Amino acid sequence: MKLADTHTHLYLDAFDTDRQKTVKQAINAGVTHMFLPNIDSTSVKPMLSLCDDFPENCFPMMGLHPTSVKGNYMDELAMVESWLNKRKFYGIGECGLDYYWDKTFAIEQEFVFRHHADLATAYNLPLIVHIRDSFNEVIRILKEINKPDLRGIFHCFSGSVEQAQQAIDLGFSLGLGGVITFKNNKMQETLKHIDLKHLVLETDAPFLAPAPYRGKRNEPAYVPLIAQKVAEIKQISLQEVAAATTANASELFGFTF
Ligand SMILES: [Zn+2]
Repeated sequence: MKLADTHTHLYLDAFDTDRQKTVKQAINAGVTHMFLPNIDSTSVKPMLSLCDDFPENCFPMMGLHPTSVKGNYMDELAMVESWLNKRKFYGIGECGLDYYWDKTFAIEQEFVFRHHADLATAYNLPLIVHIRDSFNEVIRILKEINKPDLRGIFHCFSGSVEQAQQAIDLGFSLGLGGVITFKNNKMQETLKHIDLKHLVLETDAPFLAPAPYRGKRNEPAYVPLIAQKVAEIKQISLQEVAAATTANASELFGFTF
């Protein structure tokens, strides 16, 4: 059984004392492929050094996280572009709109998000979209951009069936994480109505650990817990969930596992 963690921040401080061990534990748990979304200029070096340590397991993506869109966003965007010219990345992100923490730079966030969608098209890479209190705005922007070839992931998706369908209609996959294991989470009902072919798995480590580790540090080795919950809700086998979500990730990121 092979699994992919399509969204993990293994380069953050939370893993400073046991990063290598954490990656090895993930591989032992069958999570052979880990995709690392960038945050901003401060996260690039630790991200790339981890990917250089594990070239067959850890894969970098490049972008500017919406909560890092501040007054210097043009410099940060230039940094993103210059890195994309320097080496191979597997996705554009994470990017998107976060209206939950701070709306001071809402206009700039939209500008940066649109720019990332252009980059995803130009480099033919999946767009990794972060949404917080901004679902309708993201849908509006993606419709306005109107790029039929654009693909990507609505990261940490936990919306309604209608919202899931809107994302799918725009050519996007849904990233399912630890939230699906939380008691009475509404995504559990949504999931019953969504075909496996639209789903990929993720942890968003070190955040959002699945049950029974809720509230603790999350890590990629917990992806099987998420897969198990998906299997339970959809009443299929764990192997079926693993095969389908890994195949979806493989197609999205454009290589064979
Ligand atoms: Zn993230």
